[in-house]
Amino acid sequence: MKIRTKISLWITGAGLCASLVFSAVIFFEMVEEPLEIVDEDLAFRLEDMVHISNQCTTEVEFINEIKKLPNLRRYWIRLVGDGGIVLWQTELGRLVDIPEKDRGGPYTVKLPVPITPTASKLVYEDASTLRIVTRQMQIADRLLTVRIGKPMEDLDAEIVELLLALAVGLAAAFAFLAFTSYLIAGRILKPVGEMNRLAKEIDEKTLSKRIPVGGSPDELNQLAASLNRMFDRLQYSFERQRRFIADASHEMKSPVALLRLIAEEGLQRKDLPEPFVEDLVRQYDLLNRLSRLVNDLLNLSALELGTEIRSEPFLVEDLLSSIVEDYKDLFSERGIRASVRVPRGLCMTGDREKIRRALVNLMDNAVKYNRENGEVRLTATTGSRFFRISVYDTGMGIPPEEIGHVFEQFYRVEKSRSLEFGGAGLGLTIVKRIVAHHGGEVSIESEPSQWTRVTLSFPSERLLKADGDPSGT
Ligand code: ATP
Ligand code: MG
Repeated sequence: MKIRTKISLWITGAGLCASLVFSAVIFFEMVEEPLEIVDEDLAFRLEDMVHISNQCTTEVEFINEIKKLPNLRRYWIRLVGDGGIVLWQTELGRLVDIPEKDRGGPYTVKLPVPITPTASKLVYEDASTLRIVTRQMQIADRLLTVRIGKPMEDLDAEIVELLLALAVGLAAAFAFLAFTSYLIAGRILKPVGEMNRLAKEIDEKTLSKRIPVGGSPDELNQLAASLNRMFDRLQYSFERQRRFIADASHEMKSPVALLRLIAEEGLQRKDLPEPFVEDLVRQYDLLNRLSRLVNDLLNLSALELGTEIRSEPFLVEDLLSSIVEDYKDLFSERGIRASVRVPRGLCMTGDREKIRRALVNLMDNAVKYNRENGEVRLTATTGSRFFRISVYDTGMGIPPEEIGHVFEQFYRVEKSRSLEFGGAGLGLTIVKRIVAHHGGEVSIESEPSQWTRVTLSFPSERLLKADGDPSGT
């Protein structure tokens, strides 16, 4: 789940819990409050009556005094004497009969539905229940039961209404919280997304790029600064590693050249015994391989350290033909047929020497991994965005599971091949770097035991002229 969704859910959840607690408090307050007010009012009325009863000596006097109390019309009051005889009651008491209960109250009873039209004028609008309290009073030696009630709204219906209102309110709060928290989370995470995008852009070729750090010392800026420090360290160790390879291969170059010279001199001597000459020949072969490896390492590290790429115009056909010419002896030795097909006058700009080196590496492979009496085709084609130079051979090919790795440095398909052909696995890496320096790409296709085609694609901007008529040799 995305962090943005998680944060939205957390904020919404927390907000919803707070709303629930708040609603619960409001709910209980609103349920309790009306009852407390009515009960207080009834208690207050009863207190008045008790006070009067203490001052009266007869029931009649008591009733007359009670009648003088203000606003009794809207109360349901019944004074009951010995044997349950009703001594006096308010108009509402007369119109609505409420059966007696054992407990003194306060308790709630439903008003009969429908109540008489006269009675309905006496109760409040929406009143459908009655809150009742019963109390005994002593007048001289006689005991009186006073029942007093006040009409009020049906609280059950009110509670249902309140719950409904709260549920709607909570649903609205949930929708609002989910929406706003999603927006807020988006705002908070925007710099993180930006950082993520920039961090993804930084790879071994763009190690000098850095994430912009804002002025405020907040956590995100601190994170950006820490990431930048990490990139500093990475860049430093990458560069140190590249510099080490460059320096090491440079230091090896002269001793290897010297050893080759000594071996060559030894081979020219006629006085050496046969077994010793054989050893010397093997040594000379190995020194040749070592010298190639040192050169390849030097070339690769020069390319990785950002060597300068010259931009000069040259005819592709001339370059390809001259390379084929250089391989003439090797081709005839192995019976390989070579052909070049290039649009007439195809002229490109680039570093001729480096592109030559890339094509020579491809030709090396096309000859090395070809079969006897096979074929090598060098072709150039033009397209709308790219123009391509490809080298095709009818050799052993590359298994599909290996083809994705051949551009990695020191990668060789099947270790037995390296023993047989003696490569170090740097040729295609160098090709890839050279083409990348020219803004292009390399691709490789192959059918095992059938053919292999390596294609260099250069952006059309590097094309100066092409008549479009292919010329072939
Ligand atoms: P180096 O080029 O450094 O002398 P190499 O030829 O082994 O050594 P690459 O040119 O990088 O290294 O090629 C990598 C691997 O890809 C090779 O080991 C080889 O197995 C395979 N490969 C490359 N080109 C071809 C090809 N045309 N046909 C078949 N296999 C190939
Ligand atoms: Mg090679």
